[in-house]
Amino acid sequence: MARVYNFSAGPSMLPESVLNRAADEMLDYEGTGESVMEMSHRSKEYDAIIKGAEALLRELMEIPDNYKVLFLQGGASTQFAAIPMNFMNGSGKADYVVSGQWSNKAAKEAQKYGDVKIVASSKEQNFSCVPAVDKAELRPDADYVYVCLNETVHGNLMRKLPECGNVPLIADISSCFLSEPLDITKFGMVYGGAQKNVAPAGLTICIIREDLLGNARDITPSMLDYALMAENDSLYNTPPCYNIYICKLVLEWIKKLGGLDAMKKRNEAKAKILYDFLDESEMFKGTVVKDDRSLMNVPFVTDSDELNAEFIKACTENGFINIKGHRSVGGMRASIYNAMPIEGVEALVDFMKQFELEHKKAE
Ligand SMILES: *Cc1c(COP(=O)(O)O)cnc(C)c1O
Repeated sequence: MARVYNFSAGPSMLPESVLNRAADEMLDYEGTGESVMEMSHRSKEYDAIIKGAEALLRELMEIPDNYKVLFLQGGASTQFAAIPMNFMNGSGKADYVVSGQWSNKAAKEAQKYGDVKIVASSKEQNFSCVPAVDKAELRPDADYVYVCLNETVHGNLMRKLPECGNVPLIADISSCFLSEPLDITKFGMVYGGAQKNVAPAGLTICIIREDLLGNARDITPSMLDYALMAENDSLYNTPPCYNIYICKLVLEWIKKLGGLDAMKKRNEAKAKILYDFLDESEMFKGTVVKDDRSLMNVPFVTDSDELNAEFIKACTENGFINIKGHRSVGGMRASIYNAMPIEGVEALVDFMKQFELEHKKAE
């Protein structure tokens, strides 16, 4: 069967060349006679894979030397707890910006560990925008400020970071990882689950400024202690070996395409095709204010639930899968991560135009 265009929010599409390469190397990785799936994580072959992945990530994201790169498990959601356990260790206060479902969940989890203040929220706007952060709301003695750069469910992207002075800024970048250049020096930590833009589900990458490490609470499980993971170069226990290997192949693919500047151009071009159509369509409407629109996750609706359902069904039948919106918000959502080719977005927009035209005729 022909491959479909998969608009899933995650796990999501991987570049076809990466999948082909992995298939070619499945039974015999570089003449070792074994699959990467079967390889010892302490072998010299595997050492080259994990070190190679880190080096490429550092190069592409321009990660300064005073930041550690950790390859962990547990998904982004585990970090919702690990972050307060590792960093809410001075005043016991942390300031959270709530711009959608994921930052909301992170704030809720952190409340178990200390004094969490929601310094800005766009909940009343149904997260159709990123809330403005009033500097006066931020507490100078907070242990950190927390944001989610790209809200995957609601489809907004934070383009302006809160001004938090000396308080470290921590960002969930799960759904915009490697989608465009990011100035790491503005952050104490950025992290994300890999299954949106980097690798299959099961790998979580954390990039943490060194001076913030080493103050985890005593009760912190060893597996969630970032300092311990860093001391052991992510090999404290068995890391998600195969996912790190796929991550390396994805990074090689990005490098070949020209790095993150090229990725950004490509992603802007793709998003523009879809947003331009949503702006002109009479049937389909985007749900996020223009300035805050995500390049990765594009939610949209028609004015009826029946029509939404009919459209989603028609999409599935025509090879555009996982276009249904998140169960908490309904409607549709097209996730157009790095691996989605421009042809996929063009084909979707053509299909939407056709669908709209046919319904106009029927009226
Ligand atoms: C998907 C996602 C998560 C949750 O990731 P898991 O790996 O499933 O825990 C958290 N934050 C954002 C922004 C996401 O897109």
